[in-house]
Amino acid sequence: MATIGFIGLGNMGAPMAANLVKAGEAVAAFDVTAAAMQAAAQSGVPIATNAAATAANADVVITMLPGGQEVLAVWREVLPAAKAGTLFIDCSTIDVKSARAAHALAAARGVASLDAPVSGGVGGARAATLTFMVGGAAEAFARGKPVLERMGKRIVHCGAAGNGQVAKICNNLMLGTSMIAVSEAFVLGEKLGLSHQALFDVASASSGQCWSLTSYCPVPGPVPASPANNEYKAGFTAALMLKDLKLAKAAADSVGAQTALGGHAADIYQSFAERGEAAKDFSAIINFVREQSKGR
Ligand code: NAD
Repeated sequence: MATIGFIGLGNMGAPMAANLVKAGEAVAAFDVTAAAMQAAAQSGVPIATNAAATAANADVVITMLPGGQEVLAVWREVLPAAKAGTLFIDCSTIDVKSARAAHALAAARGVASLDAPVSGGVGGARAATLTFMVGGAAEAFARGKPVLERMGKRIVHCGAAGNGQVAKICNNLMLGTSMIAVSEAFVLGEKLGLSHQALFDVASASSGQCWSLTSYCPVPGPVPASPANNEYKAGFTAALMLKDLKLAKAAADSVGAQTALGGHAADIYQSFAERGEAAKDFSAIINFVREQSKGR
């Protein structure tokens, strides 16, 4: 049994912390929002009085926060309260630069650290089936892996500090652009008289096959569990997809990588979000594509 500090009890963090408790770990958790702490406490997560208190005697401290600024602020606050030998793991999706800065903060205190962003969404967080993409030293990974296994089923070491975040934004660049491509294909098919099911039956067994089509189809019908069958209730929100595409764009700019499609996808999700649709599942982008296609 490990003693684990957990900071950030939002949509993802609360069920992740609850799974640690269910697995028998001793957890002390904190969030700046009282409602988030109350909700987590109701699912059995012990609450600490402040962020630093979660680190007292902790073997591992996990953060699950909105962005890089919050992660750096919390790590700056909590690191001095950690005992020697504590492992810090950030599971948030943040920019690569901030992730590497967080590792540097930990290293300056002699504390081991990992960046370990996730894919799998709130459903994966609840079911403890998340995929963790992990950056950091091999020894830190070996220590963190058993803890991450309490919350996920696939734990992949991606290399040095920050590489977990690199893997995450590269994956979501593929996901964000492929969802738009699949949506464009369905709208084009509709306008030319092709049924959704016929396109699905062909493309799912042909070279257009991809996860956005076969696991998360943006039209209702072919994949019954996809958000399209539930009025595009998220799932993974368009706001979070936009966030990740912006992170990918910033990272690409920082190293001079050409990601023209990723940049265009970010613009499309931005327009969709500005129409007040940011809270919908990102696969609802098909409605935007369809609307933009009206009039002829
Ligand atoms: P969320 O907004 O629901 O939760 C974030 C929590 O952090 C909130 O409860 C907030 O009060 C808390 N917080 C903010 N600043 C804090 C501070 N200084 N100290 C303590 N707590 C603080 O977000 P989420 O959906 O749980 O996502 C968390 C991270 O996981 C994000 O980086 C997101 O991009 C990533 N992510 C989310 C999903 C998803 O489907 N929701 C999927 C993959 C990755």
